[in-house]
Amino acid sequence: MDQNKEEAIIRLEGLGKQFATSNGTVTALDDINLEIRRGEIFGIIGLSGAGKSTLVRCINYLEEPTSGRVIFEGKNLSAMKEKEKRLARQSMGMIFQQFNLLAQRNVLQNVCFPMEIAHMDSRKAKERAKELLKLVGLEERMNAYPAQLSGGQKQRVAIARALAMEPELLLFDEPTSALDPQMVGEVLEVMRKLASEGLTMIIVTHEMAFARDVSSQVVFMAGGVIVEEGEPAQIFGAPKEHQTKEFLGRFMHERAAL
Ligand code: ADP
Repeated sequence: MDQNKEEAIIRLEGLGKQFATSNGTVTALDDINLEIRRGEIFGIIGLSGAGKSTLVRCINYLEEPTSGRVIFEGKNLSAMKEKEKRLARQSMGMIFQQFNLLAQRNVLQNVCFPMEIAHMDSRKAKERAKELLKLVGLEERMNAYPAQLSGGQKQRVAIARALAMEPELLLFDEPTSALDPQMVGEVLEVMRKLASEGLTMIIVTHEMAFARDVSSQVVFMAGGVIVEEGEPAQIFGAPKEHQTKEFLGRFMHERAAL
């Protein structure tokens, strides 16, 4: 990390997203204002339908916001030309709930894919992919195909792939939600390792203990807005807003019932 840790890597200004559906317009995000600093681990929590996924998808323009601005490293993404926007998006690795690996390619080829698209020298790409597979503990499986892997292994390959272009920022959209419970730990462990290395990470998660322990900042969302933002000790230990208290209370209750 060469730059000042306090610098905002992402700034969201009045971000809004509406979807036109057959039942009318759905407002998924309403006037979101946020600042995410370099090196920060930014946890996003909230009930299903709160707008969490739409928020991370708007940050890297997988979804185009309907209003407002995404400022990435001081530059307005919305105003960028296609080429510049593509480069900026390359600097944001994304990890999805459903892994999104290419079934016809083996593990090594999956991790090489973004580097291939970027016309990187194939020998260098392979070298880098192997290093990344080592980082996520899968160097032994580089010749396996996605169908031969467990969910936890697939997600670790997806993390290695997201790191391939040396991103400035990693966006995680519920990375452990599609996993069997026994696989969750291995993925969280890799994420913990990345967090300790100073990578900037934005993480939508239902893993409350993880959000509490690993995040440097947490937001609680409901109904397309940010209800509360703060340090994890405050959000989890002394939430101020009624909705946050209710959400965390319900979550604790469900946990106790398991
Ligand atoms: P979360 O990630 O918190 O579960 P989402 O961002 O997925 O929430 O969804 C927020 C709201 O936007 C929900 O009401 C959802 O139904 C709606 N929504 C999300 N994506 C679409 C879409 N592609 N088309 C229509 N509505 C959508």
